[in-house]
Amino acid sequence: MTPKHLILPISVVLALSSCKSNQTDFNSPEIAIQKDTIMKQTSEEFAYVSEQFADLRVLRYQIPGFDELTLQQKELLYYLSEAALCGRDIIWDQNYKYNLTIRKTIDAIAESYKGDVNDEEYKQFLVYAKRVWFSRGIHHHYGSEKILPECSKAFFEQLVASVESSKLPLNANESVKDFSARLLPIIFDPAIAPKKVNLDPSKDLITNSAVNFYEGVTQKEAVAFYEKMTNKADTTPVMLGLNSKLVKQNGVLTEKVWKVGGMYTQAIEKIVFWLEKAITVAENPQQKLALEKLVQFYKSGSLKDFDDYNIAWVKDTESAIDVTNGFIEVYEDPLGKKGSFESVVSVRDFEASKRIATIGANAQWFEDHSTLLPQHKKKDVKGISAKVINAVMESGDAAPSTPIGINLPNNEWIRETHGSKSVNLGNIVEAYEKAAGGSVVNEFYYNDAIKNNVLSYAGLADKLHTDMHEVIGHASGKIEDGVGQPHETLKNYASALEEGRADLVALYYLMDQKLVDLGVMPSLEYGKASYDEYITKGLMVQLCRLKLGDNIEEAHMRNRQMISAWAFEKGKSQNVIEKKVENGKTYFVINDYQQLRTLFGELLRELQRIKSQGDYKAGKNLIETYGVKVDLALHKEVLERYKKLEIAPYQGFIQPKLVPVIENGKITNVKVEYPNSFTEQMLDYGRNYSFLPLEN
Ligand code: ZN
Repeated sequence: MTPKHLILPISVVLALSSCKSNQTDFNSPEIAIQKDTIMKQTSEEFAYVSEQFADLRVLRYQIPGFDELTLQQKELLYYLSEAALCGRDIIWDQNYKYNLTIRKTIDAIAESYKGDVNDEEYKQFLVYAKRVWFSRGIHHHYGSEKILPECSKAFFEQLVASVESSKLPLNANESVKDFSARLLPIIFDPAIAPKKVNLDPSKDLITNSAVNFYEGVTQKEAVAFYEKMTNKADTTPVMLGLNSKLVKQNGVLTEKVWKVGGMYTQAIEKIVFWLEKAITVAENPQQKLALEKLVQFYKSGSLKDFDDYNIAWVKDTESAIDVTNGFIEVYEDPLGKKGSFESVVSVRDFEASKRIATIGANAQWFEDHSTLLPQHKKKDVKGISAKVINAVMESGDAAPSTPIGINLPNNEWIRETHGSKSVNLGNIVEAYEKAAGGSVVNEFYYNDAIKNNVLSYAGLADKLHTDMHEVIGHASGKIEDGVGQPHETLKNYASALEEGRADLVALYYLMDQKLVDLGVMPSLEYGKASYDEYITKGLMVQLCRLKLGDNIEEAHMRNRQMISAWAFEKGKSQNVIEKKVENGKTYFVINDYQQLRTLFGELLRELQRIKSQGDYKAGKNLIETYGVKVDLALHKEVLERYKKLEIAPYQGFIQPKLVPVIENGKITNVKVEYPNSFTEQMLDYGRNYSFLPLEN
């Protein structure tokens, strides 16, 4: 489960760089008009915002410099993008066994609906469809709870009945009526599969989670199964269980492996087809070797082959084009073993990479000067490879909602021995910035001086936070001899603790003159803005993502609240962070940035100790005390204040489309298009990239 190397956007809102100098009075209607004008001008160049529905907003991103790439590079990007899209069905099936059946039904309705598109109930159906497409299934992509349609069951049934039966995913000899009777309870009954991932430790995490990683198996059985396979003396362990579904057949536990000839073969064969094409146009021998090893892994299903692939991939640092494709992150498995399919195809942004390279080159300095206990510091920080990339295509776990940074591979011994690759998705961050307005800052920050700082400095500060989190944070520190990997020792708290550790490294150094001296940060004002943002978001703004009464489940949210709430409490005697309530509105105001930095340093040392010594009890205590429970009154206030802003809390992207120009059977060019309809793209993907049988 750890390290989790997806970074989600830290700020819901970033400054619009072009309007910085004008923003002195945020309440003045004049400024509001200026902001609107700026948004409009931006959208005339390229519309970053496509649409908004429920709690979701759909954005678009561009691929800068695509036309300047060589034909060979464009061809490579095209093949890798096709490989990415061919795996799309896998994550749907992984998330829930009936997702593909539901999606095919929804697609068929949306494709063939001939009624009034302005009909209220149809509009409600379409919102449901879009939410399901966005979440890659019927559970919320972030909160994990089941999404229920707002339209009536009777209306839904009518829609199903109106579709030509050959277009519906019926079982053999099944009537449409029987199909509806089977399907609709799955969609409408809140008691069926209520949660995708249930992390409530008082319950059986497997039988209470809807994910399709286990079947007929209890948590106890699964844990015992993998414990038996674990060889504690192995210094190069594979990530057991990463690429399989664990099932009970005739009373015996067995893994159905995701590989050519195994489970998901129909999609994996297509992925392999496109990867083999990509191999023919690889940029260099190391990239070719990595791709060959990835194909080998998909063919054998051997996790040893997956490790070999990752080692080859880490060594491929020269290529402009890169790809992650495989079963990568383990968040969707309550036991943190099973990898969700994802692919991110990218091309390097050489300009922005310089900033991150400067930070990476000083990794040892950061390690030496950190607050870690001496025995937990690495003497030789290895293999830090950091760069800014621009996304070209994202699929699976990485789309439509996307990370803004990636640090892989996840296998700890490979990271320690061979290093890791760390990237920021520059064009995604850019799109977030362009799409955001200043209204959240205006609402949740205390006074004009702080608002000004956040609007002016948080843009770059966020980028630096991400750089430091990925490049220095995850790479820092070492585990004591004989202590197992964090996902074994810290279990279900490993992810939140690891993200917290990486965030604290970033926070600690964002108020360090070193970043100014290195020339990557103009002044400590940027650090202050990032502190203001972190605390306000961690204690308040991020609550806009939760339903009233819910606890925090998601690891990044847990770690942010844990750090913020811990610092608030520990700094209370010195009034480091002050809670102010004015006109019924709560604000958290930092009075002493340097003292807050000291507190961050203390907590960093403790989190590293917990990881280094595998102190489960202390880790659990920190997360449960500070990161899970929500102050109900404050939550209610945040929801009310946020609602007035009319901004959806979750964002995701429509993907660009790569279109090959073919002459005489050969690709002579690849063009990039930027579709603007999310619905059209989802239906297009459903038509062209759906290879799996139903209910695997
Ligand atoms: Zn991270």
